Amino acid sequence: MSNSHGFLADVTSMFNDAAEILALEEGLAEKIAVCNTTLTTRFGVRLRGKMYTFEGWRSVHSNHPSPAKGGIRFAPYANHEEVEALAALMSYKCALMDLPFGGSKGALKVDPTEWAPHEMERITRRFAQELARHEFLSPSQNVPAPDVGTNETTMIWIADEYRRMKSHDINASACVTGKPLAMGGIEGRIEATGRGVQYAIEAFFQTPEDVAKIGLDESLEGRTVVVQGLGNVGYHAAKFLSEDSGCKIIAVVERDGSIRNPDGLDIEALRKHMTDTGGISGFEGGEFDSGSALSDACDILIPAALESAIHDGNAHEIKAKLIVEAANGPVTYAANTILRERGVVIIPDLYANAGGVTVSYFEWVKNLTHIPFGLMERRRDEQGSRMLARQIENMTGCHFPAESAEPFLSGAREIDLVRSGLDEKMRSAYGEMSRLWNSSDDIPDLRTAAYIIAVKRIAEIYRALGIG
Ligand code: NAD
Repeated sequence: MSNSHGFLADVTSMFNDAAEILALEEGLAEKIAVCNTTLTTRFGVRLRGKMYTFEGWRSVHSNHPSPAKGGIRFAPYANHEEVEALAALMSYKCALMDLPFGGSKGALKVDPTEWAPHEMERITRRFAQELARHEFLSPSQNVPAPDVGTNETTMIWIADEYRRMKSHDINASACVTGKPLAMGGIEGRIEATGRGVQYAIEAFFQTPEDVAKIGLDESLEGRTVVVQGLGNVGYHAAKFLSEDSGCKIIAVVERDGSIRNPDGLDIEALRKHMTDTGGISGFEGGEFDSGSALSDACDILIPAALESAIHDGNAHEIKAKLIVEAANGPVTYAANTILRERGVVIIPDLYANAGGVTVSYFEWVKNLTHIPFGLMERRRDEQGSRMLARQIENMTGCHFPAESAEPFLSGAREIDLVRSGLDEKMRSAYGEMSRLWNSSDDIPDLRTAAYIIAVKRIAEIYRALGIG
């Protein structure tokens, strides 16, 4: 990775491009750009017979609407600047998707692979205590979610620690999202970010003037895809694109190298191999080498690992026509300029990976209402459909075809409603970005369009509140 500019500086540059076009009044652009608060916490945990000190951060970039929302990552390389950059991205992402959240992000400097699960639980619970004690964790003020190195189990530990500290808070389970279903989670949260990437790509291919910019037609069938990172986001995106959308995943890049198969990789089998062996080498369904397939010829490149994967040192080599930023910040500001000049279209992170926070929003609402989505109406809708089917049968004298009876007659389950809500959010945000991008030569790309929409929304709130 090479990003001499820095991730935070990159996010600020992307913001500045939009703020300049919007011509915001003096002082307001700076107010929106800066991170409001960052908590740095250092705490000790007695493990393996001695005291270990851990360092973590939680940044609130904006809390114009509360709570502030954003993931928590556990990584040995985590640092304060990266957390602030990711928190800023969350503000813009929530504003773009029109979600009622400010932006936040957290990180703990720890390598989860170095500690046993019961040790990680103690470390996480101590971190959660620090966050709650400093008002950086609560259903009304700050709501974390999983990110790199954290998962559903991490979220249970955090929620449980919060519940113990605030036993009178009836909404305690809404203090984090990404929980398991049995512990207040929502159907479809684990797949949400990858599912959102699929919907984002479908939205792009359903927009003829945008697809024409990369010289393709509107069909997704047979499109070749390279994915970097087969973790939560990359795996789900690759799975849905190959299983539902007809794409061929011709290469996957992981930590240990790349695996290629021009006929399309079996993603389910590859993921199982990774879980069993810890890497992609040795997988029999493709050809492995220790290099990177990032610059292989393909229609769509999906960087879904970490930031700055595509930088000014390798941007010239990229052959993909479309890059979909499933990870946060995978294309540096300098690389973005090089790629744009080369005619590559980029679907930006603040939109492409917004599926996670969108479904987190549904989970948070579900926790606050204390009722699963679809519970009250499912059977009633089913009854209505059955009555309608009977009437049609009576009027036509024909039987309802058995193969379409089930989807037509059954009422929506929670997963159906979640996917429908996510599809709606992804499609409408894409439509807004695309219309703006195509409306003026001053708007050079989808990223600038996305930032303009987001910054305009935040600016309107600050003006209304009198902070502007
Ligand atoms: P994850 O830890 O599950 O997966 C990351 C994957 O990338 C792992 O398989 C890892 O082995 C691989 N990887 C790491 N370094 C690599 C490298 N140098 N080359 C190739 N592969 C490498 O994390 P995730 O939750 O899938 O998150 C991935 C990205 O998506 C991050 O940028 C994260 O901030 C972003 N994101 C995640 C969510 C979510 O819901 N999980 C939501 C929005 C954005």
